[in-house]
Amino acid sequence: MRKTIVAGNWKMNFVPSRAKAFAVEMKDKLDSNKVEVILCVPYVDLRSVKDALEGTNIKVGAQNMHYMDEGAYTGEISGAMLRDMGVPYVIIGHSERRERFGDTDTTVNLKSLKAIEHGLVPIICVGESQKQRKQNRTQGVLRKQLAFALDELTADDMSRIIIAYEPIWAIGTGETATDQQAEEACALIRQQVEQRFGKAAADKVHILYGGSVTPDNAKSLFSMPNIDGGLVGGASVVPSFEKVVHFE
Ligand code: PEP
Repeated sequence: MRKTIVAGNWKMNFVPSRAKAFAVEMKDKLDSNKVEVILCVPYVDLRSVKDALEGTNIKVGAQNMHYMDEGAYTGEISGAMLRDMGVPYVIIGHSERRERFGDTDTTVNLKSLKAIEHGLVPIICVGESQKQRKQNRTQGVLRKQLAFALDELTADDMSRIIIAYEPIWAIGTGETATDQQAEEACALIRQQVEQRFGKAAADKVHILYGGSVTPDNAKSLFSMPNIDGGLVGGASVVPSFEKVVHFE
């Protein structure tokens, strides 16, 4: 049985004082024994949010990291820094970073390997564009992104990572994938993990759906057999995020 995970991606929202106030206001409402709740917040909010969540089961995550440990990489944050801060999760290869900030299949792989090396759980994002879906290329795109992302990872690593299927056309658009579309893609991802690492590894790996998840669609999406929860953007920075977390 895989535990359901609901990860909020705050993107570039909330200055530290507002982030702290929101975390304080929401922590009892979001705290859960049943669902693993993760708040992926801007770097500058990590400390205040982490402190505010002390004593709850809610975890924090970063939204990106560099694949080197240290050095002349002005403006970057390393996995070593996140580990030292006690940050357990990090989003890797979000489509907004792939599209606008130069993340590639290769850097997604390097970052994922480095995150695992530091004991961080990478939330590895994959997903097709609207054009690719229309051209019936969804399966090929997912296979390629995943083949790169999982290069040099081991079967044991499958319980140390989370994969998020995030169709680009559904992110921040209000257009959610249907339960069937999301399930089909997540099943394909699990099948690929199985082909590569075996059934035991595929049974363990957590696969999330992301793309305009709301309190209204969370239950049906998260109830699909191959969907183990969600990566939630817009709906995670409003009080009704509570309803996504307690979707049942
Ligand atoms: C995301 O940022 O990963 C995301 C899925 O955003 P939204 O829920 O707003 O579509």
